[in-house]
Amino acid sequence: MSLQIVRIPVLSDNYVWLVHESVSGETMVVDPAVADPVLIEAKAQGWTITQIWNTHWHGDHTGGNAGIKAATGCTITGPAAEAERIPAIDRLVAGGDCVKLGEIEAAVMDVPAHTAGHIAYHFASEKAAFVGDTLFAMGCGRLFEGTAEQMYANMRKLETLDDETLIYCAHEYTQSNGRFALTVEPNNMALTSRMAQVDAMRLRGEATVPTTIADEKATNPFMRAASVAEFAERRAAKDRG
Ligand code: FE
Ligand code: ZN
Repeated sequence: MSLQIVRIPVLSDNYVWLVHESVSGETMVVDPAVADPVLIEAKAQGWTITQIWNTHWHGDHTGGNAGIKAATGCTITGPAAEAERIPAIDRLVAGGDCVKLGEIEAAVMDVPAHTAGHIAYHFASEKAAFVGDTLFAMGCGRLFEGTAEQMYANMRKLETLDDETLIYCAHEYTQSNGRFALTVEPNNMALTSRMAQVDAMRLRGEATVPTTIADEKATNPFMRAASVAEFAERRAAKDRG
């Protein structure tokens, strides 16, 4: 892997991802909720931030845009459909576009539902995807600006990625997602053993992401829903819980 990826925990449960490409020397930030902890981590690594990539407009994903741009002069890329709500955005992209960190390419995927213009960034050559608030470990984003049909379609899109693809999501929601997943599939052995592992990791204060497509196919009740109706029922039950 020619990318180095550093996880920066901020706010109560957000993860900001710092991604360094060593050939070009470029460093990119995915969804900076805040500026200072990101600037401090980049400095500690000896890296200079050249780009920010946003997945959607929510403040806990874009709150650091202006501060990081002011400090570094970086270029900000984000979803065209949400451009007017993304601070300091420079470059508007949508599904099918290609973005680059150095010479390494990422495909932009449209994954609307959590927000209407939500996108994800997939580095096929690196087997890594940055999915914001669309897919979580054993969970998926809430349907704030979209429908169950759309999120179900997103699950179908994401499950086509290579099984080993690392999924970099934006929150540490794994344990509560897993507790819900167990109510849906109490006899899923992959799920019960994953949850035992997750509980132990959280007890030690460890992060449980990135996850992988293979793990999500085996344990995620939203990815595993067999129809839009089943997906919608599970999403509604999780929202009530
Ligand atoms: Fe969000
Ligand atoms: Zn979020």
